[in-house]
Amino acid sequence: MDLYEYQGRELFERHGLPVLAGGVATTPEEARAIAERLGGRVVVKAQVKVGGRGKAGGVKLAEGADEAVARATDILGMEIKGHTVNKVMLTVTADIAEEYYLSYLLDRANRTFLCIASVAGGMDIEQVAAETPERVAKIPIDANVGVDEAKAREIVAAAKFPADVVEQVVPIAVRLWQAFIAEDATLVEVNPLARTTDGRVLCLDAKVSLDDNAGFRHPDHEALVDKAAVDPLEQRAKEKDLNYVKLDGEVGIIGNGAGLVMSTLDVVAYAGESYGGVKPANFLDIGGGASAAVMANGLEIVLSDPSVRSVFVNVFGGITACDEVANGIVQALALLKERGETVNKPLVVRLDGNNAEAGRAILDAANNPLVERVDTMDGAARRAAELAAAGV
Ligand code: GDP
Ligand code: MN
Repeated sequence: MDLYEYQGRELFERHGLPVLAGGVATTPEEARAIAERLGGRVVVKAQVKVGGRGKAGGVKLAEGADEAVARATDILGMEIKGHTVNKVMLTVTADIAEEYYLSYLLDRANRTFLCIASVAGGMDIEQVAAETPERVAKIPIDANVGVDEAKAREIVAAAKFPADVVEQVVPIAVRLWQAFIAEDATLVEVNPLARTTDGRVLCLDAKVSLDDNAGFRHPDHEALVDKAAVDPLEQRAKEKDLNYVKLDGEVGIIGNGAGLVMSTLDVVAYAGESYGGVKPANFLDIGGGASAAVMANGLEIVLSDPSVRSVFVNVFGGITACDEVANGIVQALALLKERGETVNKPLVVRLDGNNAEAGRAILDAANNPLVERVDTMDGAARRAAELAAAGV
């Protein structure tokens, strides 16, 4: 889960990192109250889970409360890279002398944690990294050791922080690491880590991603979920205990077993290249013992996705035999009809493995005009892609 900057700022504050006083507002009136409380010059910042807000005009300075209200009014409702701004954060501002960059992340490719640090931070850090990679230090962090003072000094030296900020940056590097570990984050990024004209070093931005798999250790993280922004289909699937992820294609996917579903996505994407580039519309693993009720719930979610134009049900019978799954499909379609759902999208079903013949016979006997049986995974993927390309 990615956090909004204001959530990241609060998390930093809890872990003793230097941030500026602030508050978050959803209306210009709330922005006024915060600006009045803070007093003086403030910065008004769009809260969207995407970078480059500064360049998009989502970060503005304001002299006093009236101006803060005007800037909040400009920024609320703005679109930044497809994200609508529903909240703004206001903080006291700092006069920036220099902008640095500091982050910790999970480096999956190298199976380690990584620190990235640079004295050339700010809004052009991507360009700096691309054009002058020597100005961006990358320091692997041993998970068993972490970042103690000595490691922090190594980071500061590698990135060539100016001597007069070293004593401030070292404890920041240590605390940022402690926050990263304590919160089970996969990313903590500070850009800019700013040196102010009066010599302080402050975290002026906070980008944090938390590891959802560690959620059970952090009951407080649940409160950070932005319920309004959750995909409604994913929300409904979660309520039904389904393993569903919305994607942006047209072929609905249902399979049993995460590995099979993953490879189904690949096969469909590949087949789709021959049919105008249609792609999988979702990931949905209905698991091992897929009953008719689970199949019905899965079908209901997939069919209610307006971008779905065909559905590929890919099942490899194991502990759950294919005849049970076939009965599940037939009963699921009947169940959906009973629930008053309109089922008018074609289903391509591939059954293989345990009791495949019996399962196929059940589908054939049911003779549902929407259900087409194809017995190979590649063949079924091609047919589903073709049907999706042809529309309903
Ligand atoms: P991003 O563009 O989405 O990463 O948003 P940032 O929070 O990093 O803000 C973009 C830029 O706005 C920063 O690089 C700073 O130059 C500037 N900025 C952000 N906060 C402040 C502040 O408190 N005071 C001043 N003077 N500038 C700020
Ligand atoms: Mn930033």
